[in-house]
Amino acid sequence: MKTEKTSYYFETYGCQMNFAESAALKLTLSERGWKEAHDGENAQLVIINTCSVRETAERRVLGRLAHYAALKKRRGLQQNPLFVLVCGCMASRLGDKLTENGADFIMKPQEAFIFSGLLSKIEAWEQGGDFPQPVKLDKENHHPAFNFAPSHHETGCFRAFAPIMSGCNNFCAYCIVPYVRGREICRTPKEISAEIKNLAARGVREITLLGQNVNSYINDGLDFPSLLERIARDVEGTPVKWVRFLSSHPKDLSPHTIQVMKDNPVFCRHLHLCVQHGSNRVLSAMNRRYTREHFLELVAAIRTAMPEITLSTDILVGFPGETEEDFEEILTLMEQAHFLYAYMYHYNPREGTAAFELPCRVAPDVKTARLKRVIDLQMRHTAELLRSRIGECEEALVEGVSRKSRRELVCRTERDEMVVAEGDTSLIGSFAKIRLESLSGNTLRGHFVEKM
Ligand code: SF4
Repeated sequence: MKTEKTSYYFETYGCQMNFAESAALKLTLSERGWKEAHDGENAQLVIINTCSVRETAERRVLGRLAHYAALKKRRGLQQNPLFVLVCGCMASRLGDKLTENGADFIMKPQEAFIFSGLLSKIEAWEQGGDFPQPVKLDKENHHPAFNFAPSHHETGCFRAFAPIMSGCNNFCAYCIVPYVRGREICRTPKEISAEIKNLAARGVREITLLGQNVNSYINDGLDFPSLLERIARDVEGTPVKWVRFLSSHPKDLSPHTIQVMKDNPVFCRHLHLCVQHGSNRVLSAMNRRYTREHFLELVAAIRTAMPEITLSTDILVGFPGETEEDFEEILTLMEQAHFLYAYMYHYNPREGTAAFELPCRVAPDVKTARLKRVIDLQMRHTAELLRSRIGECEEALVEGVSRKSRRELVCRTERDEMVVAEGDTSLIGSFAKIRLESLSGNTLRGHFVEKM
């Protein structure tokens, strides 16, 4: 079967930044008349936006490339070819090596400016031109401004991401991000405001500002809290009711940012504050540049300013040299910080990072057992926090239909709690008051009281 010309299919892996960048590329495709296919089998161009943070994520993408390489062979090269573009962090880490795995085009995170040229080549080939070859980078035209597309909004979506910066300068010992995403580049306040106003004009209800470390934003003399103040003014009187931001680094989250959040209710009462570990010895070896005491003082300051706020975090277990005593300090920190949820991992070495060469690796069975203890504790905290909410009436954004039951809708409170409630699909995309009635697993259940 011949595929529809100029049809594309996206596979996006990894963080929200990748999803935002995929949305921007989709916008370019749709502006040029390309249609989204239901699956890769029916597409002419498959775009895989990749993540290098963990080896498992890379292995998954290599498996997908093998799948598409086999599909290409079945289709035939000249008659009905399939083109595969790999972008994101794997494109940066492995580069042209990915062509051996079946990629036709490679586009690193800082090279999105080649995308239009690449589409032109495929379009020209359809009109009888030459078979598309990899696009050569025009380094002359490479300017940081090209790192950010003007819009990251998917048509019809009522929630949107808005990247404010990309890259990272922190070089945490276990992390590949600074090597694959490069150093921090901050988008100009003017561009950010333009995107925010555009999202508001399209009726978007919730915006999430994105960056590897949003708290270190600085551009044109404007730091992160001042940017937040500007954004609060930009969305005043518009459909945008909630603004979130992530990720926050504990060493950079300032008292001024806490004050701006407190003073502006548009900023949701939830913060994702990555702690990673509870032992000062391990935090130092990780190059996190804060102590356990600093983190807990920060948590206390945030809770004093906004008692209703919830916190979530990332926790990394089994870093090289982690002793049982170090590990216990994660558990005691969790007891004190009381996170609503956490992304919990055990350490896996990533070649090219500072920790890769470190001795005293923790044995795999020890890492697994420690991770299980962290997960069990977090599940207990999540259940306790959610159970304490039963009986309250809470505003939530109705996000979609539950995967488990077509009759139920999935909603999210500003504190980032998931709630399911029976309701009509016409509520999707609007805010509603929900009475929280019970807890099933770690999901709140409730019923709609009123549409807002
Ligand atoms: S702050 Fe650390 S963990 Fe986060 S992206 Fe930068 S280097 Fe990686």
